[in-house]
Amino acid sequence: MIEDKTPHRTSLADLGEFGLIDRLTKGFEIHNPSTLKGVGDDAAVMDFKNKKTVVSTDLLIEGVHFDLSYVPLKHLGYKSVVVNVSDIYAMNATATQITVSIAVSNRFPLEALEELYAGIRLACKHYKVDLVGGDTTSSTRGLIISVTAIGEAEASDLVYRNGAQPNDLVVLTGDIGGAYMGLQILEREKAVFQVNPNSQPDIEMYSYILERQLKPEARKDIPPLLKQLGVKPTAMMDVSDGLSSEILHICKQSGVGCRLYEDKIPLDPQVISTCEEFNLDSTTIALSGGEDYELLFTIAQADYDKIKGNPNFTVIGYITDKSEGVNLVTRAGQFIPIIAKGWNALTINN
Ligand SMILES: [Mg+2]
Repeated sequence: MIEDKTPHRTSLADLGEFGLIDRLTKGFEIHNPSTLKGVGDDAAVMDFKNKKTVVSTDLLIEGVHFDLSYVPLKHLGYKSVVVNVSDIYAMNATATQITVSIAVSNRFPLEALEELYAGIRLACKHYKVDLVGGDTTSSTRGLIISVTAIGEAEASDLVYRNGAQPNDLVVLTGDIGGAYMGLQILEREKAVFQVNPNSQPDIEMYSYILERQLKPEARKDIPPLLKQLGVKPTAMMDVSDGLSSEILHICKQSGVGCRLYEDKIPLDPQVISTCEEFNLDSTTIALSGGEDYELLFTIAQADYDKIKGNPNFTVIGYITDKSEGVNLVTRAGQFIPIIAKGWNALTINN
């Protein structure tokens, strides 16, 4: 997924909006029977029969959410779909359609937008979602991307953030902290490049964390896997802002507290070694890093045997009564209140 550096630059003004839409949406396939009408009319038409419809939107702004000096446009297109379908999976639903709207300044030629859409098309193929609409317009500065994801679920399968009960287990898929540390590497290499444009970065040893940042994947596999195992989470969220922020949302909306165990938080060895290199505490990074797009959920204790030993899942703690608060239990056995960004090492409970 390396950005094409061909020198062709076709001005967007020469194409006109409809010519541009035709070029960008060429080659997108329809994967879902629920898509009755996609791109090409005044509106898309979908039919979910007896299922419930799930909708989520995200807005990505150049300079705020992404930096094009190190994010290839194809990766950006892919990631802009991933972050949205991730929210659909976090409802225990299936993602089926997306709409993509972009605002671009005239510094972007057609070829750049084609790279962006190549990434979007790849994600649509991988996640089996249909591009059914969107808008393209101009911006005075930079690139803005808005993606809306649409999904479907049986009413009885939907999982919200507010169903966690005391004694439920807190479960995390995959491992976390990688996307944040990948970003630290990219920022460091950018700074090095600004000083010495001829420097050849040696980033081989950071391949996993760079991929976590540049080409994250949403956990499409988890809702069907949970169904197969006969487990319905009591609450669920995706990890976009960071574990601490997400667990606080679940606890607040469910009216409960929880205990997470520091030694249970799943970290890749590359996250641990890169944290050491940057002199950062890996627990803090896991709690406040974000952008890992793993799923965080709670299950009844009775369901533990169904997920036990499954390599996709790690039990990292349990839900308590609200009065006990939201705490991290450190390796030393101390109880530390979890705050929205990481945890406050200076305040100790108990
Ligand atoms: Mg979310």
